[in-house]
Parts: sequence; C-alpha cells; structure tokens
Amino acid sequence: MTSDTDVPRGTSLPENSPAATGVEPQSAAIPSPAIESPLLQAVATAVSLKSGNFKLPVPAETRILCVANQKGGVGKTTSTVNIAAALAFGGLQVLVIDLDPQGNASTAFSVDHHTGTPGTYEVVVDQAPIADVVAETAIPGLVCVPATLDLAGAETELVSAVAREQRLRKAISAYAEARAEAGSRLDYILIDCPPSLGLLTVNALTAAQQVLLPIQCEFYALEGVSQLLKIVDLVGRELNPGLTVGQILLTMFDARTRLSQQVAEDVRTHFAEQVLNSVVPRSVRVSEAPSFGQTVVEYDPGSSGSQAYIEAARELAERMAS
Ligand code: ADP
Ligand code: MG
Repeated sequence: MTSDTDVPRGTSLPENSPAATGVEPQSAAIPSPAIESPLLQAVATAVSLKSGNFKLPVPAETRILCVANQKGGVGKTTSTVNIAAALAFGGLQVLVIDLDPQGNASTAFSVDHHTGTPGTYEVVVDQAPIADVVAETAIPGLVCVPATLDLAGAETELVSAVAREQRLRKAISAYAEARAEAGSRLDYILIDCPPSLGLLTVNALTAAQQVLLPIQCEFYALEGVSQLLKIVDLVGRELNPGLTVGQILLTMFDARTRLSQQVAEDVRTHFAEQVLNSVVPRSVRVSEAPSFGQTVVEYDPGSSGSQAYIEAARELAERMAS
C-alpha cells in the first residue's frame, strides 16, 4: 500500500502540510507559523514520549474497553495496539487482551503466539488465570494476553460450556483485583475482538464497560454497524447492564478522496460527540510497523499516524478520567 500522506522516518508531518491534505500550498518557500506549529507539536510529542514526559490522566478506576466491529480490516487491531501503546507511554498501566485467533495484536507487540503458547484460549476455555498467561511487551506498563490459532476452536467449544458468556469477565476481574492488591492497579484493559459477532465477541462485550468502535473511512463503512449496535443493546439488557458504544474512531482517512470526507461527515452527523476528534490517516508507516513487531507509536512516533493515535489516546483518557 502506498500513500503520500507519509514522510521519511524521523521527520514529522504537520496536519496542514501538502502531504497531509493533498493540496499544494501557493508558496512553499517560507514556512508560515501555521505550518510550523503542528510540526513543532509533533516533534515535541515524539520527544516527550521518548523522554517519559508525556503524561495522561489516571482514571478513577480500571476502564475496560472492547474494540469491536464485525467487519474485518477496519483498524480494530491497529487502533487497539496503538492506543494501548500511547496510554502506556502516557504513564498508565495497560493490559491488551488479544481475542482474535489471527493474533495480530500479539504480533504487533512481538509477543510469542505460536500454536500451543498459553494465552486467551486457555483463559476462556480452560479458565486459566490471566496472571499465568500474560506476557510482557517492550513497552513499560503494557502487558498482553496473546492469542494463538487454537482460539479459533473456542467459538464452538464454548457453545456447551457453563457460563459461556462470562468467562472473560470473571478472568479479568480476578486479574484486575490481584493487580490492585499488589499495588499495580491496571488503568486500562483493551480487548481486541475478532471480525465476527460470535461467542468470543460476546465475551468481550460482557466483560467491557464500553465499546470503542473503529470505523474505516471507506465505502460500506457503516455496513454492519447497526447489527453491532443491536448486539451491544442485547448484551446491555441481558448480560452487562450499562454497556454502551462509548467512543468511535475514524480510521484510514484519506484527505485526497471525497469519499473519506463524506464517510467522516456521515459518521459525525449520526454519532455526534461519540466520535473522537482525532482522525487516523491512511499511512504507510501505520501499516508497516507490525512487520517490525512494533506499534507505529514506537516505530515512528513523529509520523502522522502515530500523532493521530497519540491524540486519540489523549482524548480517550481525558473523557474517561472521571
Ligand atoms: P482489523 O483488526 O479490523 O481487521 P487491522 O487493524 O488489522 O484491522 O487493519 C487492517 C489492515 O489495514 C492491516 O494490514 C493494517 O496494517 C492496515 N491499516 C490499519 N490502519 C491503517 C492506516 N491508518 N493506514 C494504513 N494502513 C492501515
Ligand atoms: Mg484484527
């Protein structure tokens, strides 16, 4: 995938630069303050991230978010790992649960997830404690429960299981309690869902307080969203009172296309303030980071994709602090 919304590694992209907007400036000779300021801001964020000066508000209690959309390829995993990374760089304690047999979140964190590695399958099927399967990542404060292909069998194995929708919720509350007692309370738990509305996703919806819904700025973006909203409503009535779609994140925005702008406008009209202001641009840096076993926040902190995820994490943390 190529895009000219990217800049070389180690440089930063101002929001209103030609590369970001696809619009050539009338004069590129002298950078105006309006161009310079987002550039400086991007550099400053990247520097403060590296130096540990980037701080996000600590929530009043552990927040549990389920990143769901039954459409595949809309940016669930990318959003999970990058928001999680930004929250952790912001000084927060974060757990990511990879609930997709593809194990893409585990790959992004460079966490071992070959078949047979204990992970989410053991938690939901064998009721193994999360503490026994959780893995450290390269990011301080961020741990991950890996997913292996074994998890693909869990959907059918859970069908006849006792309290089959509650497996993840119970495991999470036991682990969260243990962490709090040990003096290292978790601030955020992010669950990366598979692209389906089966029992694994229902387990995530039952465990979470809120859904974070990534919507790709592409054709058919809203297809299936109403089905997800119905499931959220059902789980909210039957299994997990209070569950809501809390935040919506627009992903893979391409400023050069009218379609991206139209989708973004439609989503904002429909969902209003649920939609985060930060919009993630389509960016090569974002898509190549996982092949280095990294999030884009680590791989190229000053890039437009990284900046968007850092801003999204900041908004989320501010909205969810109290
Ligand atoms: P999902 O988890 O919903 O299936 P992913 O997060 O795996 O979606 O994203 C699908 C594909 O799109 C991946 O190859 C990913 O690298 C790529 N991708 C995601 N977000 C972006 C982005 N902002 N710019 C470019 N590519 C992206
Ligand atoms: Mg995924």
